[in-house]
Amino acid sequence: MRKNIVAGNWKMNNDLAQTESLIADLKKQSKTTNAEVMVAPTFTNLYKAFEALQGTDIEVVAQNMHFAKNGAYTGEISASMLKSVGVKTVILGHSERREYFNETDELLAKKVDAALANEMRVIFCFGEELADRKSGNEENIVGNQIKNALFHLKAWDYKNIVLAYEPVWAIGTGETASPEQAQDMHAFIRKTIADQYGYEIANDVSILYGGSVKPANAVEIFSKPDVDGGLIGGAALNADDFFAIVNAF
Ligand code: PEP
Repeated sequence: MRKNIVAGNWKMNNDLAQTESLIADLKKQSKTTNAEVMVAPTFTNLYKAFEALQGTDIEVVAQNMHFAKNGAYTGEISASMLKSVGVKTVILGHSERREYFNETDELLAKKVDAALANEMRVIFCFGEELADRKSGNEENIVGNQIKNALFHLKAWDYKNIVLAYEPVWAIGTGETASPEQAQDMHAFIRKTIADQYGYEIANDVSILYGGSVKPANAVEIFSKPDVDGGLIGGAALNADDFFAIVNAF
């Protein structure tokens, strides 16, 4: 059975004191759904967040990692380093990583392999740009992003893969894909996985939507049958808003 998941990506926001304060606010919230809840602080605050959230059902996840085990990669963080501070899940392929740090499908395939080899769960992000959507090329782009980075995996690897469809034109812009646009693309994504691995695997993969999800639109987006949750940016920086989204299921 696939799970409902709501993950907050804090991006390059929140120093240590702000992280502690947001976590204190999160701990005051109550969850009224069965959705799994995750937050992704920046690297320097992962351990503090992990410690502060122990005993709660909020999981601390990382925003990125390198594919190598260790070595001369100045400024990078490995899977085993993440695991050593309690992190078991990593976001890979966020559009900001693709755009500002030139992360390609080929590089992301290596990162996915490294995460899985370390028994970590991956939230794999992808999505089309506005020009692709305008030219009606969105399924082609999304299909290729999935094939290039994930189709070398074995069927059983998918128990540790969560997919996050994030149309680039909807991230941080205030513009959201309509619930129908999200559902259509999520159904296409599930079919893409099913064509390669069968529906038994595809039906078990959680597919999250990301792109300006707010308390005001979460209920409608999450009501769609192939939308299994959300990857939340801006609204995850406020505990009330984030939990309003979590409880939208
Ligand atoms: C994101 O960056 O993954 C995201 C969805 O951001 P926002 O919710 O702010 O659009």
